[in-house]
Formats: sequence, structure tokens, C-alpha cells
Amino acid sequence: MFLTISTTGTPERPATDLGFLLHKHPESAQAFSTSYGTAHVFYPEASVERCTAALLLEVDQVALVRRGKGKGRGGAPDAALAQYVNDRPYAASSLLAVAVSSVFSSALRGVCKARPERAREALPLRVEVPALPARGGPDLVRKLFEPLGWAVEAEAVPLDENFPEWGASRYVRLVLVGEVRLAEALRHLYVLLPVLDDAKHYWVSADEVDKLLRAGEGWLAEHPEQKLITSRYLSRRWSLTRQAMERLELVRLADADDTVVEAIDNAVDADDEQSDTEERPVALAVLRREAIIAELHAAGATRVLDLGCGQGQLVQALFKDVRFSEIVGVDVSVRALTLAARRLKLDRLGERQAARLQLFQGSLAYTDKRLKGYDAAVLSEVIEHLDLPRLPALEYAVFGSARPRTVLVTTPNVEYNVRWESLPAGHVRHGDHRFEWTRAEFRDWAERVAGRHGYRVRYVPVGPDDPEVGPPTQMAVFSLADDHSTTTKKKEAAA
Ligand code: SAH
Repeated sequence: MFLTISTTGTPERPATDLGFLLHKHPESAQAFSTSYGTAHVFYPEASVERCTAALLLEVDQVALVRRGKGKGRGGAPDAALAQYVNDRPYAASSLLAVAVSSVFSSALRGVCKARPERAREALPLRVEVPALPARGGPDLVRKLFEPLGWAVEAEAVPLDENFPEWGASRYVRLVLVGEVRLAEALRHLYVLLPVLDDAKHYWVSADEVDKLLRAGEGWLAEHPEQKLITSRYLSRRWSLTRQAMERLELVRLADADDTVVEAIDNAVDADDEQSDTEERPVALAVLRREAIIAELHAAGATRVLDLGCGQGQLVQALFKDVRFSEIVGVDVSVRALTLAARRLKLDRLGERQAARLQLFQGSLAYTDKRLKGYDAAVLSEVIEHLDLPRLPALEYAVFGSARPRTVLVTTPNVEYNVRWESLPAGHVRHGDHRFEWTRAEFRDWAERVAGRHGYRVRYVPVGPDDPEVGPPTQMAVFSLADDHSTTTKKKEAAA
């Protein structure tokens, strides 16, 4: 497994600074032992004008197999020969990524005491990986690296040069050229090499989510292929993928592509069967659902609307609770509703159960007669998906027209964003969030809505309530003030 990183320079900014940035001296070849073999770092060229560092990983094939984790992609470990005949030693893969992170750990973090200014600036870089296993081929390679500012040369390596008619192998010769900070370039490789390989050699554990978010800082949240990257990086372990997406708030089901839809469909089943042996923090989404359900109980609501229900997790939780006699999920996205229907196994429900449940498509930007007459409406993480100028329309549709006795509105608290390690300062959590509010901004909006429509409002924190920045999710609980409802009705009757 082999990878080179080259840069060019001038007498004022010598290319050999690469040695400082990588914390590896250009003059000596060095060897490091990693859990899967020996990593060598050496410099085929090191002059003021050009400097190339090479990382070669010599995989200890047998050690790899003894660790019981040496399966090739989709490969069964059963064949006796498989442990000696697979592509791991030759191909750049997650092992190379692991080597990058252990041999160049300081460089990956952008730390360089000797040349701090060079660590901060973009360098003219050329990265070459002669044999990169790439499921998805040169096209996917380009899709992954081009949005990050690289000029990409990716060509399929023929299966056998003497027999072109055999077609391409699953390897790609990759050359990346760009003006990129070294730390960033290494982080791109650290995440995307295993993503392309799509075969992790070790068991994906919960801290992989942290690794991904750390390495993806500053670029993953904006990447057009973020879903593919996240799911492949986490080896399609959907509970982890969701956890990662939750934290980056990447999941946008409204525009999810079909493969994601299908995968989530499977994941829904897998998730239900998941054992409790795996430790993971309680996801914020779970806390949110619990807080919502507690408030609905407190309000004595039994007939409930979930407005902007997405893929129906809350609907499902409400449905499992016999105290709710009628549950209606509404969303503008047909795709989200399709997923919700599958999650709820709508087509397999008995008549009585089916009568408790309804999903329909509708936009909250318009008044809708079907929304009238319910005890409560929930808007969970929905308002921030509307452009601010559309918000008064939603306000009127819910508080003016549908008028349930109780309305619960949750939205992210932007002040808390500094506590999400993975979020670069000043970034909203989700690409589709049109705005994120501070606690004061949310309260200001909620007070005005309550005042205009005759509701009382109070606020409930969801998630850890940080003394400085508050909770990650803020919830407003609106209750219809009785006197007002009757006066409005009288007014309406009189009109
Ligand atoms: N309530 C869910 C989903 C939140 S994502 C949860 O808490 O997880 C926001 C959802 O609002 C998406 O499913 C999106 O399709 C929906 N949405 C956005 N604008 C909408 C509108 N104008 N009318 C109805 N639904 C809308």
C-alpha cells in the first residue's frame, strides 16, 4: 500500500518544509510498527523546488488474519487460502488510513511548532495513490474529491494489461492536485480512502463516530455526498450512521436518494432488533420524543397531530402508547411519508389499529381543514426548515386555523452549537436549516405568536441544560387560554 504527497517550493518557502509539517525528516527513512504491519516513511525527492514524501505500509497478512478481522470486501473468512490471497497488502485502504493517522497524527491535527505559519496555509499539493480500491470507480472518486477543491485524475486500472478485453479492475490510480492545507488533505484521505474501499478491516465501534466527525470537521457538513460518506465510513452500521447524522444533522429524508431510502428501510428493522449490549449515548432525538410525549400526557391530549412528521419516529412512539387514540402525521414530502408508512408497517395493521393512525401529505404553509379538531399538534424540528418569510403562514395555519388546545414546538438552540465539538463555529447544524435561533429569539417569536392567537406559552429544555448556553433543543409549550378561545369563537360566530 502506497501513497505519496508532493509539494513544490521556492528558496523563501522551500518544499522541504513538508518534512517539518509531517514531523518526519526528509533525510532518513523511518519505520513505524502499527497493529497491522510496518509503515515506512521516506522521501524519494527532497529539494527546495520539489519534495515528495512516501508512505508505504507493509501489511503483516497473517497478523491481520489472526486478529480475525482480515476479511476482504464481502469476503468470507472460510477459505483457508483467503488469508494469504487477498488484496489487502497491495491496495490502499482503511489500513493505509489508519497508518496515516498513526504516523502523521500531529500533521493530521495541523500541529507544527517548527513551521506554524506553513501548517496554516494552503500548499500546492499533489497526492498520488497508485492502487486505490474504489467501489464506485473513477466517477465516485471524482464526486468525493472534487467538491473539496481537488483537481482529480482517476483512471481505472485494467484487470490485466495484456488482456484489455477483461475490462477494468476495481482499482483506480488516483492523482489529486490542489492548493490545500496539509492537515486538511490528510483528513480527506483519512476519511475517503476507507469510504472508497468500502471494506473496513476492523469492527466499527461507537467511537468511530467521533473519529469521523473530528476528521470531517470543516468539510463533511457541506459535502454533497455526505450521506454516502457517512454510511460507508461507518460500514453501513445504521445505528451509528444515524447517530453521526443526528449530530451533524445530515439526514434530509425529504431529498434522500433511493439507496438511502432502501438502506434506512432495512435499518429500521435492524434497529428494532438491536441488542442493548451496545453502549451509546441516548440520542437527542430520543430525548426530544420523550419530552414531547411527557408534555402531551400532561396536557391530557389523546388525539394528536405530528406536523412535519418526517419519517415517522414520533408517530411510531405515539402509536405504541395506548393512551393516544388518534395520531395523524403530516408532511410535505411524499418520500418522507413513504418511509413513515413502511416504518409503521401501515399495510399490515389490523383494522382497529389502522383506525388510530393516519398519514397525509400537506403543507403547513396553507390552512387545511383536515387539521381542525385535534387536542394537540407537535412541530418537532420543523419551523427552522421554513424560510423566515413563510413562518407567518405556518403560524396562521396552526395557531389561527387548526387551533388545537396544545401546541408543542421544538427547534435547535443555536447558542448550544459551541458545545457540539464537530461544528465549526458559526455553522448551522443542518444544511437545510434556514435559520437557528437563540433562546431569546425563540421566546420572542413564541410570545408574539401566543399573544396574537390567545395562547399561553412556557419553555422546556430538552437535553443537557448548559448553565451558559442552555439546552441543545428548546421546546415551547403553548396552551390555548380558555377565555380567549370562547371570545374568539363568539367573535367568529358574530362575524
Ligand atoms: N418532525 C421530525 C422531522 C423534522 S425534519 C423530527 O422531529 O424528526 C422537518 C420536516 O418538516 C421534514 O420532514 C420536511 O419535509 C417537513 N416540512 C418542511 N416544510 C414543510 C411544510 N411547509 N409543510 C409540511 N412539512 C414540512
